[in-house]
Amino acid sequence: MDLVQLAPSVYACLQEDRGLGCSNSGLVSRAGGLVVDTFWDLPHTRELVATYARVTDEPARRVVNTHHNGDHCWGNQLFRDAEIIGHRACAAAFGHDAAPAMLQGMKALAGGDDPALAAFAAALAPWDFRGIELTPPTTVLDDRLDLDLDGIAVELLYVGPAHTAGDVIVHLPAQRIVFTGDVLFRRCTPIGWEGTYAKWIEALDRVIALAPDVVVPGHGPICGVEGPREMKAYLEYVRGESRRFFAAGLSTLDAAKRLDLGPYARWTEPERLLFNVERAYREFRGEPFDAPIDAMAIFRGMHELRAALRPAAA
Ligand SMILES: [Zn+2]
Repeated sequence: MDLVQLAPSVYACLQEDRGLGCSNSGLVSRAGGLVVDTFWDLPHTRELVATYARVTDEPARRVVNTHHNGDHCWGNQLFRDAEIIGHRACAAAFGHDAAPAMLQGMKALAGGDDPALAAFAAALAPWDFRGIELTPPTTVLDDRLDLDLDGIAVELLYVGPAHTAGDVIVHLPAQRIVFTGDVLFRRCTPIGWEGTYAKWIEALDRVIALAPDVVVPGHGPICGVEGPREMKAYLEYVRGESRRFFAAGLSTLDAAKRLDLGPYARWTEPERLLFNVERAYREFRGEPFDAPIDAMAIFRGMHELRAALRPAAA
């Protein structure tokens, strides 16, 4: 866990491993403190709290969740008595995903007979989901919320549905810093849930238009506006290629196997491509942005795709 100072009283805490669940967090250490996102489990969030204690006297009084995925909010309870802030759709989605206890149970399948499940379970090995009590936002925003932390302006801006229905980015205009949550993955392949390509690209354009000097992605290393630009190019490319394969009648898995990832094959977990082809196909079929996803079936396909992509990714 790496603590980086971005400006006076502004920090990022980065989990350098870009694997499953390794998200980033932010801190503005003014006016009682504001934390942007907690981590996926209690041990990692305890380490986050200890890391921030190196530069603050007391735990933050506010936590902003950029969205509802567990790797950004399952540590909320460790910020006792904090005001938890998020988009209305983020708060509403708490408890709708796989529960912590279910993921904890899946860890037992590592080494089992089902190779796709065993691989997923192995990816969960660094995490300990015991003791998590879902702690959703109690202060909700719709379009935006502006805060003044002893002279540091903080803008919480709704940009969804892009990666999820309730995506919020955190903008510090004077410091020229944006914390994007999972609207941006950097050097790791994006994966999205509810939302559309159009809104996701619009959200990245919104980040670019803010002209920040520093962009802290939800996953991966800190960057400048080249980060959102590259991810926008990836989304446009994958959507365009998917359209060709959709028109030719290929299944999503066959399309993902044929799609030439080029430079994007070097991003970690390139097999998440299947999630993105699935999203494109849902849109081509005219399905709504929050159409149900059979995530387990896609994870199985990703397992098969990983083997097919390996030569290119090496
Ligand atoms: Zn995430």
